[in-house]
Amino acid sequence: MPEGPEIHRAADTLARAVVGRELTGAYFARPELKPYEEMLKGCRVEAIDARGKALVTRFAGDLCLYTHNQLYGLWKVARSGARPQSKRSLRVALDTNHASILLYSASDVAIWPKDQIEQHPLLRQLGPDVLDPALTPQQVVERLQDRRFRGRQLASLLLDQRFLAGVGNYLRSEILFHAGLNAQQRPQDLTGDQLERLASQAIEVSKRSYRSRGISPASGMRADYLDHSGGGFSFFVFDRAGEACLRCDSIIERAEIGGRRCYRCPQCQPAGGKST
Ligand SMILES: [Zn+2]
Repeated sequence: MPEGPEIHRAADTLARAVVGRELTGAYFARPELKPYEEMLKGCRVEAIDARGKALVTRFAGDLCLYTHNQLYGLWKVARSGARPQSKRSLRVALDTNHASILLYSASDVAIWPKDQIEQHPLLRQLGPDVLDPALTPQQVVERLQDRRFRGRQLASLLLDQRFLAGVGNYLRSEILFHAGLNAQQRPQDLTGDQLERLASQAIEVSKRSYRSRGISPASGMRADYLDHSGGGFSFFVFDRAGEACLRCDSIIERAEIGGRRCYRCPQCQPAGGKST
């Protein structure tokens, strides 16, 4: 499952293909969206933004397109007007003179008025996107101290999209490692310094992944993120059980937490917070 950095990279690729251009055609598989095919023709694509794991495509005028890939959805860029053969079912096509972007398999597709999109049930629940350039460590510290979040174990809190949108399983392990914290600790157990380190690493680790790699298919991720030769983002603990910590040589451990695998260095991330 792609995480924030991969989703932002995918949004960037789609944006490069069609943003700033007028739609020469639009296709929606869902019958109730058919009327928009004609309405959107000639509208310029203004922006494609990742919000957590959803994408919002804004058009000149009043409308925007909300899509969520869920587990199986896949966006592709194609030659202008092309509909490449695929076993997947085409759900959305947006055509411009320059290129077309095609969404396959995803069923969560809707057209919304732009000025109401923040009221979408999923977007309304989301915390700030971890890759939002406007998000500051201080804002994340404030969320960590919020009564909704401060008593939660970091293991579940970091995956909760209401806390920070875009953090998924590999980012969880990597953020905890770089913050020197353990998955069982809770914000209320942490010192001010630890809270600040966690907040800044949540943003920094996500940004580093977004800037330097960010590949979409999870299947190709392991080899890519375990390659430390390029100087870009790579895994320090995730998927490295039994291997030596790159900082201290201790052996990386794997645990199942909430049904999802989590990795840590026992030396760099000692167990227990202040209250245990
Ligand atoms: Zn270590």
